[in-house]
Amino acid sequence: MSANKAAANKGPAKAIYRRVALIGIGLIGSSIARAARAARVAGHVACWSRSAATRGAARRLKICDSVHDTLAAAVKDADLVILCAPIGANADLAKAIGPALKAGATVSDVGSVKEAVLRDVGPHIPGGVHFIPGHPVAGTEHSGPEAGFAELFRQRWCILTPPKGADPAALARLADFWRALGSKVEIMDPAHHDRVLAVTSHLPHLLAYTIVGTVTDLEDHLRQEAADAGHVIGRSEVVKFSAGGFRDFTRIAASDPVMWRDVFLNNREAVLEMLGRFTEDLSALQRAIRWGEGDKLEALFRRTREIRRGVIEAGQAGTFKPTEEKKR
Ligand code: NAP
Repeated sequence: MSANKAAANKGPAKAIYRRVALIGIGLIGSSIARAARAARVAGHVACWSRSAATRGAARRLKICDSVHDTLAAAVKDADLVILCAPIGANADLAKAIGPALKAGATVSDVGSVKEAVLRDVGPHIPGGVHFIPGHPVAGTEHSGPEAGFAELFRQRWCILTPPKGADPAALARLADFWRALGSKVEIMDPAHHDRVLAVTSHLPHLLAYTIVGTVTDLEDHLRQEAADAGHVIGRSEVVKFSAGGFRDFTRIAASDPVMWRDVFLNNREAVLEMLGRFTEDLSALQRAIRWGEGDKLEALFRRTREIRRGVIEAGQAGTFKPTEEKKR
């Protein structure tokens, strides 16, 4: 049975918000819609998306109670509005919805960078409306409303970064909402969030994008060398032998280009700082290989193996399988 049907069969429940509006209904927005309806924590889930095609998909998939063609109609009477578009779109979206927000409503977001969201969205939030940015640390390399599923946030962290002076009751309510979606909630300073995520998420993505690009260029070089030597060139060796480690990088490097462009443009300082540290460590490793320092290599690899075990023990190693609704 689908998550939505299961929710419908359970009858009325105590909603945390009477009406939730999702601005953007891609992977994250549609997963929130599905999870909120499955957990019955929103009386009504409304959504808006920029393109008619995505709004059409949201209607066809029946993941929201209402799909709106205008931002003003989507946020009208909403108690919780969550911006679920790429970070670079937030300023324009916040400016457009500002005048239509209900007094007492909460505005949040799901962006992977937090200081930029405070900077871009904060000035457009009218007095009497709460603003509490958030970041569900959960995702896949897929995009669009078809890619979402209700279990995406289960046992994953959702980091909330309230600005100074944020209303404690509004913060507690938003935290309850995310817990009801299956998340563990952490409250963090926005600048600290951006530094932590630069290390744990942004740098690994940057490396994956680099490795996939470099390996592909190197393969072209190897093919040319082989052709020059008169060897027959078969199908792509990068694809053929990708199970040797490359495959895992290609999965990460398939992540949405616009989303990740915005992440790097909006978390520039922290990413550049962490990249500097990484480059030093990579040079040390390069030196160890050059000088045959096997003990150094082994010591590092033993330490990193322990870290992987820690990730597994913390339950952060995989994602829950999509529901039947997603598979159909
Ligand atoms: P997605 O699947 O590509 O969906 C993006 C949504 O935003 C779509 O509804 C799209 O509308 C809309 N949109 C795109 N560009 C826009 C623009 N310039 N103006 C207004 N709307 C626009 O993206 P997603 O993966 O859900 O990511 C959304 C947000 O979640 C990002 O801020 C990202 O940082 C954050 N996040 C993502 C992940 C992840 O793993 N993907 C994890 C945590 C947080 P149309 O389709 O109609 O064009």
